[in-house]
This record gives sequence, structure tokens and C-alpha cells, in this order.
Amino acid sequence: MYLAKRGGEGHAVFTPVTQPRIAHLTLESALYEALRGGQFTLVFQPQVRVVDRGLIGAEVLVRWTHPDLGVISPAEFIPLAEATGLIDGIGAFVLRAALSEALTWPAPLRLSVNVSPVQLRHPQFTGRLAALLAETGFDPARLTLEVTETAFINDLSAVTGAVRALRALGVRVTVDDFGTGYSTLMTLRDLLAHELKIDRAFVRELCAPGRKGSQNRAIVQATLGLAQALGLQVVAEGVETQAQADLLAELGCPVMQGYLIAPGLDAETFRQQFLNART
Ligand code: C2E
Ligand code: MG
Ligand code: MG
Ligand code: MG
Repeated sequence: MYLAKRGGEGHAVFTPVTQPRIAHLTLESALYEALRGGQFTLVFQPQVRVVDRGLIGAEVLVRWTHPDLGVISPAEFIPLAEATGLIDGIGAFVLRAALSEALTWPAPLRLSVNVSPVQLRHPQFTGRLAALLAETGFDPARLTLEVTETAFINDLSAVTGAVRALRALGVRVTVDDFGTGYSTLMTLRDLLAHELKIDRAFVRELCAPGRKGSQNRAIVQATLGLAQALGLQVVAEGVETQAQADLLAELGCPVMQGYLIAPGLDAETFRQQFLNART
């Protein structure tokens, strides 16, 4: 529905008023249906050592298959899920389903799970996670939670509090998409994370010719130096070519993930291609 109002020049202008809200409502109920109706599934993207491609573990990524619209990217629905509070239910599903899958993997393979700052802020988040770990018997040291860098800056004290509680549980924490958010070195200092993930934006341009490439190599190199000085692990994300992997090896980046190795795979394919193949 559109409301007419007087424009500055005296003619009517039309502003959409209720339309976006209706669309929002529809999507919100679709998300709710999705959670109830089992439309969320998980894929697992392998993380490997850069030097020999030895398997370290996998990052779990949620997928929403809508009955009419097909597969919808988390980049599209996670923000809405955060705004509506449905993220708690979706996140709980992801954690439970991913942990039960990863329980079948041999130690010391690790599972990395993305969590929204909205989830982290929930007063019962760590308590529920502790209960889930106890119930499943999954080793907390093999679980990493990925939190995006923007999350830290928006709500640093709440997130830092949650990270402390997670550390006490023995769970690892990684700063996702490092270098693209607004976090400062102070955030890194105070956060007590275990790891940082170099964003795809830097990896993508690693082999670009000229100034662009050399700038991105300098950024990756500096990030690796900083991480080493602070005692943080590093994962490079979005590695698509062997040339990028070679450069990462040269720069001393220990772990990578990306289409070069594999995209997110359903649990069965991940097991067949990456677990059965292990010697
Ligand atoms: P992210 O955690 O930084 O995940 C990396 C994204 O890059 C994933 O997109 C992955 O499929 C994609 N990717 C991986 N390797 C490559 C590559 O080599 N090239 C390119 N071009 N892309 C690559 P996806 O699955 O669409 O997820 C997007 C974002 O949604 C994630 O970014 C994460 O922030 C969020 N997300 C995904 N699953 C969950 C979840 O279960 N919970 C929450 N809270 N957020 C999630
Ligand atoms: Mg991630
Ligand atoms: Mg990332
Ligand atoms: Mg990213």
C-alpha cells in the first residue's frame, strides 16, 4: 500500500509504507515454518593445513531450502533471523545437529560453528552450550565458535563476557572475517580469542598483479605476524586457486579453506571424500 503526500514542488509523491513490513512478516513466518518444518540443513567445508592439505576439521554452514524459492543463502536470512529473535532457535538447531555429526569424526578433527552476536548475548547461551556438550560428550577443545568482527565492535563488552565464559568451558573462539569489520587492535587484545580468520577479500587479491597484489600480500603478512605475536592461530578463508595456496604457504599461513579444497559438502559427502580418504 502506498501513501500519497505533498511533495516540495506541490505534486504528490508516493512512498511505500506498509509493503516492506508485509514482506518482512511473510519472510519471518517463512523462517519460523522453516525451523519447524526441517527446511534447514547443514553443509561442512573442510579446513586443511596449507602445506600438505592434511585435514584439520570443518566449518559448518547452514542452508535453507525453501519449498518454492529453493536454496536461500544465510547471508540473506541470518540478518532477519537476528532481527526477529529466531536466530536463537536456528542457532540451537545448528549447534545440536553439527555436534552430533562431528561426534562421528575421529579425534582430533575439529568443528567450527558460526554464532551470531545475538546468540552470544543471550544470558543462557553458554549454559545451554555447556549442557549440550555434557549431553553429547563432545570434547569442548574440538569446538570452535566463529564470531564476525563486526559483532565485537557493536557490543564489545557483552561479547567479551561471553567469550570469557566460553574459554572457561574450554571452547575455542575465532574472529571471523578479520580485517573487514571495524574492530581495532584493542578489540583483539581484549577479546581473548584463540584464532582469527583472514577474510576472503584479502585472499582473493593475493595474486593480483602490481600494487593491488602486493598490498594484499602485505596485509596478510602483517596479520600473520600480529597473530603470531599475540599467540593466535590463523585460518585463511576463500582460497580458490593453487597460486593463492602457494603464496599462503610462502607467507607461513598454517590453515586454509575454500573452493580449491571443497565447497560446503553435505555430511555424507564430507565423510566419504575427507574421512574415508584419510590414512
Ligand atoms: P563465513 O562464516 O565467513 O563463511 C564463509 C562463506 O564463504 C560461506 O558462505 C562459504 O560458503 C563461502 N565460501 C567458502 N569458500 C569460498 C571460496 O573459496 N570462494 C567463495 N567465493 N566463497 C567461499 P555462506 O555459506 O553463504 O555463508 C555466508 C555467511 O553466513 C557466513 O560467512 C556466516 O557469517 C553466515 N553463516 C553461515 N552459517 C551460519 C550459521 O549456522 N549461523 C550463523 N549465525 N551464521 C552463519
Ligand atoms: Mg565463518
Ligand atoms: Mg568468514
Ligand atoms: Mg566471510
